[in-house]
Amino acid sequence: MQKGDRAIDTSPVVSDEVKYTTCYMCACRCGIKVHLKDGTIRYIEGNRDHPVNRGVLCAKGSAGIMQHYSPARLRKPLKRVGERGDAAFEEIEWDEALEIATDWLSGIRENDPKKLAFFTGRDQSQALTGWWASQFGTPNYAAHGGFCSVNMATAGLYTIGGSFWEFGEPDWELSRYFLMFGVAEDHDSNPLKIGLSTLKGRGAKIVSVNPVQTGYSAIADEWLGITPGTDGMFVLALIHELLRAGRVDVDYLLRYTNAPWLVIDDPGGAEDGLFARDGEGGILCWDRRRNAVRPALDPDAAAALKGSVTLPDGRAAKPVFHLLAERYLDNAYAPEAAAKVCGIPAGTIQRIAAELAEAAFEHEVVVDQPWTDWAGRRHEKMIGRPVSMHAMRGISAHSNGFHTCRAIHLLQVLLGSIDVPGGFRYKPPFPRPAPPNTKPAGKTGQVRPNCPLPGPPLGFPTGPEDLLLADDGTPLRIDKAFSWEAPIAAHGMMHMVITNAWKGDPYPIDTLFLYMANMAWNSAMNTAETIAMLTDKDSETGAYRIPRIIYSDAYFSEMVAYADLVLPDTTYLERWDCISLLDRPICTADGPGDAIRQPVVAPDRDVRAFQAVLLDLGARLGLPGMTNEDGTPKYPGGYADYIVNHERQPGVGNLAGWRGADGDQEGRGEPNPRQLERYVENGCFWHGKLAPEARYFKHANRAYLDYAVDMGFKSDADPVVFQLYSEILQRFRLAARGHGPVQPPEMHRERVETYFDPLPFWYPPFEDQVGNEEQFPLYAITQRPMAMYHSWGSQNAWLRQIHGDNRLYVPRVLAEAHGITDDDWVWLESRNGRIKAQARVMEGVNRRTVWTWNAIGKRAGAWNLAPDAGEATKGFLLNHLIDELLPERESGYRYASADPVTGQAAWYDLRVRLEKAAPGEAAESMPKFPLIQRPPGLEPPPRQLRYGAAFHRKTGDGLPPGDGA
Ligand code: SF4
Repeated sequence: MQKGDRAIDTSPVVSDEVKYTTCYMCACRCGIKVHLKDGTIRYIEGNRDHPVNRGVLCAKGSAGIMQHYSPARLRKPLKRVGERGDAAFEEIEWDEALEIATDWLSGIRENDPKKLAFFTGRDQSQALTGWWASQFGTPNYAAHGGFCSVNMATAGLYTIGGSFWEFGEPDWELSRYFLMFGVAEDHDSNPLKIGLSTLKGRGAKIVSVNPVQTGYSAIADEWLGITPGTDGMFVLALIHELLRAGRVDVDYLLRYTNAPWLVIDDPGGAEDGLFARDGEGGILCWDRRRNAVRPALDPDAAAALKGSVTLPDGRAAKPVFHLLAERYLDNAYAPEAAAKVCGIPAGTIQRIAAELAEAAFEHEVVVDQPWTDWAGRRHEKMIGRPVSMHAMRGISAHSNGFHTCRAIHLLQVLLGSIDVPGGFRYKPPFPRPAPPNTKPAGKTGQVRPNCPLPGPPLGFPTGPEDLLLADDGTPLRIDKAFSWEAPIAAHGMMHMVITNAWKGDPYPIDTLFLYMANMAWNSAMNTAETIAMLTDKDSETGAYRIPRIIYSDAYFSEMVAYADLVLPDTTYLERWDCISLLDRPICTADGPGDAIRQPVVAPDRDVRAFQAVLLDLGARLGLPGMTNEDGTPKYPGGYADYIVNHERQPGVGNLAGWRGADGDQEGRGEPNPRQLERYVENGCFWHGKLAPEARYFKHANRAYLDYAVDMGFKSDADPVVFQLYSEILQRFRLAARGHGPVQPPEMHRERVETYFDPLPFWYPPFEDQVGNEEQFPLYAITQRPMAMYHSWGSQNAWLRQIHGDNRLYVPRVLAEAHGITDDDWVWLESRNGRIKAQARVMEGVNRRTVWTWNAIGKRAGAWNLAPDAGEATKGFLLNHLIDELLPERESGYRYASADPVTGQAAWYDLRVRLEKAAPGEAAESMPKFPLIQRPPGLEPPPRQLRYGAAFHRKTGDGLPPGDGA
């Protein structure tokens, strides 16, 4: 192209250097190639070799440039000099910032480590942050899982030793029927897009169960606009139909599940509902041929699936399958009953059940690959049922989400479609034992001054004795995770931290330390009250009720204004990072994988990667894992040093690829000083490959189980037996009935008895149960847009052009009833608050549901957006309507608005009333909060942010100049 020629050059040289790294514009961790020109980022491309995205890049990933060059980036550590919330800060040097933090934290550690509450948001370094908390000695740690999808993770781990997304994926290449629940355009974003297009290309049927028909639901072959919070009923009605028609995989149930295990039937007894065991503790089944009990795992036993038997000790017992069939064949789960609850016709439920059965049992998939099972039985072929499922936050974030998620796994197991050709497939290191063996640390006596915890703060209780309770039964954690309020809160309860810390319930804390958690805005239920709690002072002392707040973020989010000390983080393109098998890796069903981020460019501000800061703080505090015996830092090279040299157990570290001194080992091996170089040479990821005989039936496959032990994924090569009936839940229930040494206080007994049902069941979400039906007849939920990920995306100059504000989507039938047309302003009211929003009428939504995009609304002034930005004037959040607590009980106690088993925040339980705004009301969203002032160091944002104009100027191609980045 000639200089000055206006013809389009279709192959311009856009870069003079390309660096590989991992995207962090959402949680998927796609591989990317960052093109640089003259040291600035010019262009981001998908890495075609990467196992997660295979070259696919979404709008968010491409717009990473604008995240990196965002005008909202913090520039230097800040110390509060005014009142909280005023954003009155002074810039300080890092030495002073770290001295302040060390001073505050060392005092806590010397006296009472639990007075530090350390919580992180969409943190992809939880292997480090959790370990750091444990080394500090506080049990008060969690990441954001408690308000995201812990129901999904926990229900899966307690049932099949795995779950969806990072735990497993559909067999996209062989599946014939795909059922998808509550999935918006997030979580497994690019892999799901690739998978759905594979299914479409193959003509497989896709059914989406979702109140809203957007994104993936819009391309489904069939959309079922279910009423929010009723998916569990729908799934159990499918199970009712399959059982009624005798369309379940009996052979699969006998081989891989606890269906034949005997359950003691001894009402009132201390072991009622537990598995029958022999003298050595071995679980028993009933052998039909011998007419006697046998070890449940005896491969030669002809195990019975039904009938009542008499145990050698005289007690009665029934197989799990018998109890299961009794439960779900009941008319309470008949399609006609479910239809009344779910808004899906009974005939549709019957048809979907029949279609599932047809796909599973009449279209077997046969892979010509011999394999040997855990008991040594050789199988000539791998035979599977080509039905797969995926579910996500839409079903998880309800107060009945745990049992709903378990019901979905139950359905998959009954169809024989777990880790078989065409079904759901585990991604190594899953399956884990159901549940994994880790228990939460932090019991009385385990939290001691200047001592680390004896284990990680998060884990998987298997009975009341694993709870973190004081002698009087009160919670030991500030968020009340692992207490009687939420016994299996495996990801903690981040949504309760600020409320409980403010109340001093169960005790006051000293310092709240947050990372990437915008808890003063879109990461809080009950936003206005959260802000009030963050700023509230003791009327006698004048001191803040939450005495100290340290916050780390790369951007000027709403939360920054409420911190006393701000530690500015880098962007994801400026640091080393590690996507570890110890945390949330990037495996596929065909092999384990992990990845790194490398600094693509150096920071141009006085910021530091939070992970490096955490290690520095750890060394300053003398935390044992971060300090040598002579007191010097153990990882003087920062996070990169830690990634390579830290070992969680001998030979097992953060990265599994290129281990050993020569880099020739995978999984286990001593640290390799050149490991990061090898990752960079390989495009910043490692992906192992399973042997062909280990690809399916991983829960019971000798080759895979041995491999898992070699790699350090499992401590033994025992099979993972699917827990259709959860004895663990029954143990809690027995405690509520007055058995065992650890029992709930009287006030919690009925609740534990009700919700710790060992078989999945459906109950209405709690907001439906508090008598709101007439006053608040509608449901309100959010969906995640394809082009945004939480509040990160809605400050991004490119992505804001797609979603610069949000509308409240109203089903046409409802809009007509209220006289609402497009762009009318409406009020939405819940028992907790009132918001004003602009409406948009649509067809594809459940007729009792209104919805909007997640996290678009911004507080005026935050994120360095103009105060009159659309996000602040028209954008809105549903968060203002949601209460983090349920209404007061008769006793005066208020439970968290959360799942009673896992503590998962029940965002999607929200009930509302809709009303058209009066004529003449201001055309702006409500509520409004005072403008947040820009902190020192942040320049006013450019009037127009036109990235790329600077490049055009340089090349002199005649395009008009712009403000540039
Ligand atoms: S799906 Fe997520 S990780 Fe992948 S490119 Fe898009 S934003 Fe990045």
